[in-house]
Amino acid sequence: MENKKYVYLFSEGDASMRNLLGGKGANLAEMTKLGIPVPEGFTISTEACTKYYEDGEKLSEGIIEEIKVALAKMEEETGKQFGNKENPLLVSVRSGARASMPGMMDTVLNLGLNDETVEGLATLTNNARFAYDSYRRFIQMFSDVVMGLEKSKFERILDEVKDKKGVKYDTELDANDLKEITKMFKDFYKEQLGKDFPQNPTDQLIEAVSAVFRSWNNPRAIVYRRLNDIPAEWGTAVNVQRMAFGNMGENCGTGVAFTRNPSTGEKGIYGEYLINAQGEDVVAGIRTPQPITQLENDMPEIYKQFMEIASNLENHYRDMQDMEFTIEQGKLYFLQTRNGKRTAQAALRIAVDLVEEGLLTKEEALLKVEPKQLDTLLHPMFDVAELKKATPIGKGLPASPGAACGKVVFSAEEAKEWKERGEKVVLVRLETTPEDIEGMVAAEGILTVRGGMTSHAAVVARGMGTCCVSGCGDIKIDEEAKVFELGGKTYKEGDFISLDGSTGNIYGEAIKTVEPEISGDFGTFMAWADEIRALKVRTNADTPRDTAQAVKFGAEGIGLCRTEHMFFDENRIPAVREMIVAKNEEQRRKALDKLLPMQREDFIGIYEALEGRPATIRLLDPPLHEFLPHDDEDIKTLASDMGLSFEELKETVESLQEFNPMMGHRGCRLAVSYPEIAEMQTTAIIEAAIDVNRRKGYNIVPEIMVPLVGEVKELKYVKDIITKTADAIIEREGVELKYMVGTMIEIPRAALTADQVAQEAEFFSFGTNDLTQMTFGFSRDDAAKFLKYYYDNGIYESDPFQRLDQTGVGKLVKMAAELGKSTRPNIKLGICGEHGGDPASIEFCHNTGLNYVSCSPFRVPIARLAAAQAQVKNPRK
Ligand code: ADP
Ligand code: MG
Ligand code: MG
Repeated sequence: MENKKYVYLFSEGDASMRNLLGGKGANLAEMTKLGIPVPEGFTISTEACTKYYEDGEKLSEGIIEEIKVALAKMEEETGKQFGNKENPLLVSVRSGARASMPGMMDTVLNLGLNDETVEGLATLTNNARFAYDSYRRFIQMFSDVVMGLEKSKFERILDEVKDKKGVKYDTELDANDLKEITKMFKDFYKEQLGKDFPQNPTDQLIEAVSAVFRSWNNPRAIVYRRLNDIPAEWGTAVNVQRMAFGNMGENCGTGVAFTRNPSTGEKGIYGEYLINAQGEDVVAGIRTPQPITQLENDMPEIYKQFMEIASNLENHYRDMQDMEFTIEQGKLYFLQTRNGKRTAQAALRIAVDLVEEGLLTKEEALLKVEPKQLDTLLHPMFDVAELKKATPIGKGLPASPGAACGKVVFSAEEAKEWKERGEKVVLVRLETTPEDIEGMVAAEGILTVRGGMTSHAAVVARGMGTCCVSGCGDIKIDEEAKVFELGGKTYKEGDFISLDGSTGNIYGEAIKTVEPEISGDFGTFMAWADEIRALKVRTNADTPRDTAQAVKFGAEGIGLCRTEHMFFDENRIPAVREMIVAKNEEQRRKALDKLLPMQREDFIGIYEALEGRPATIRLLDPPLHEFLPHDDEDIKTLASDMGLSFEELKETVESLQEFNPMMGHRGCRLAVSYPEIAEMQTTAIIEAAIDVNRRKGYNIVPEIMVPLVGEVKELKYVKDIITKTADAIIEREGVELKYMVGTMIEIPRAALTADQVAQEAEFFSFGTNDLTQMTFGFSRDDAAKFLKYYYDNGIYESDPFQRLDQTGVGKLVKMAAELGKSTRPNIKLGICGEHGGDPASIEFCHNTGLNYVSCSPFRVPIARLAAAQAQVKNPRK
């Protein structure tokens, strides 16, 4: 077993070995292969990381042996020796996972220095200052990265010495000062850890390699992986590389550069460098770096060589490169190259440019843009300069992206009133309920104390494209007194705050926002996506406003119209309540008669906004208690409206309470108990379609969807009500109108018996929110409370309500799709849960053969791109 290879010299690998060598290692190997000057080194593979964990967080003897062999080869190649005091080999130890994970783990530089080799280095280079500067950096980095001693403690010692000497910059310290500092650093190390700073270079190396592997499971890394869908089993690789010294004098330096501007995408070299500096000095902001173009004056030969290699790398990788380099005594070394991170705007421009330059096909270009990134182009953004000046007062969950700035209000009514007065407001609530809808529409942003990424506030805000930060538990709120406390300060009604829905940051001040500009590249790029994709993209929309927004973003119809959202309007809620508390059919029909014209108008508005595109309209779904009057005041008002006594109504209200409303009297169960509700809604849907078809000449085919079906007979029962009602209207009106009746697949039993369900259903729409909830057996409103522990313990890696659980829930989807087709070969299949806007889940839908995905309006462009990418990766037909 032990003959598996875990360590690869840079000269043994290439870019295709990314999974094994990590991104950094694979590219260092590739550059070596291309003959680009890269300091010699080797990579300890990601499989070694996995083995490290299998072996109980220990490096096996075999791996240590391989490391020693690789080191010996390096010594041969460099003519230097590890731990040799005449001519010491010094190395950097660098982490590098398959996917880049910035900031996960810091690099250790100058490893191999000790009390003896430092002297050797001083003599060899005739530069004692340089040698001791390197040594003190090494002690500091090793202590921080490997042993967990805070960097700042060392900085403090450094500052003390500078103060004592009366100097301001590190560069003003001489060799003796730095020698003194290394001694103080080592003393501090011993005092803190109770042992001497390790002097044996091999021990130093083994410790550092183990620390990189350990860092794979530090809390920061776990959170980062979850946010970026990186599986824990990938592991990280470690790169060990000869140091190139950028800090040996004026003919040395270090820098970073991009082949195109990462903010705008503009073609042309972009970057910075520092003369006589090492490693992270460029980004650390100690000295102001020079723009890369200045290198042409400072070192013309090096600049020429650098530009040539940069351009070769871009052509080789056929993408914008982000490169790190160091110049050691007039010799240029490349230390890293990778496809550079970029803003959404830059990503689009680069993709379009690379196609025009003939470097990429359209298909390849489509894979170059992260679908999720497009989101930032669709919402207001903070003015970058203003944001830089502000400091957050707290942080919640980044529930719905965008930037919001406004005055604090504490209730939905106030949000509405203030907005009508022309004020911009941010709604701050303990949590939101469906009744807050209008206030949420009025607000620039929403901030809640409770609730996760799929809480009511989060889902609704994403649906509307409104910025939302949810679940900020640090807030102490008193909604009655209209104040909240955060970050040690109190905020009253009317105070300005700002929210960043993309990071979750909360600011206690006004920060200017700007409307995003959608450039021409965006349009070009999306047209390519539409040309290629096989999946259709619809939207979840309940109002003409949302529908129009979605159509603007390219939606091809509505996949889910939730009729209950129309019931919360303040003009309707009395009639809705009347319907619910009705004692008998007659009373209920009276209330429904009031609702019918309103619902008809709703659907007319939606059909018009769709301009002839199809719509799936779902019959009433939610637990009825959501609409009930809550307090005695409301009950009194309603009782007098309805001519009932307070006691009588109160009793009815109480009798309607349920222990588990999510699994209670809701969905098609409502239509089974009260067929007249389904009749009213069918009437509104059909009459609206006839009206709009007549006036606009469209050919709308209404798709009526029955929710929460678990048994074919219940679907048949409700379907019969629908067809009877619809057919009577069509006959009465003397028109031709096709319509369809289908169902949501959201109860596991419906998925299991989908062949039977398909006998009645003309389409399936997978309601993966409820389907996930019922398959896992936990509520989406409560899961946030305990999922944290599941992430911490590696049981789940991502929120199944956001990213479809392909193993379990996905299996039900696949099975239901197949069973459905076995009964009805051309059954129409779609998905309308939150997952319809998640790129990984969309890929699954494509591969499962669904016809469309449906998502909130602001996710439509994301879904269009994700669908195109799925087709490029796995072409249909
Ligand atoms: P990150 O992944 O955070 O970018 P790196 O492993 O790239 O970390 O290391 C950070 C910096 O350290 C590099 O940009 C480079 O300046 C410096 N560095 C790393 N290895 C070496 C080396 N062998 N010689 C000189 N500098 C190095
Ligand atoms: Mg780097
Ligand atoms: Mg549902």
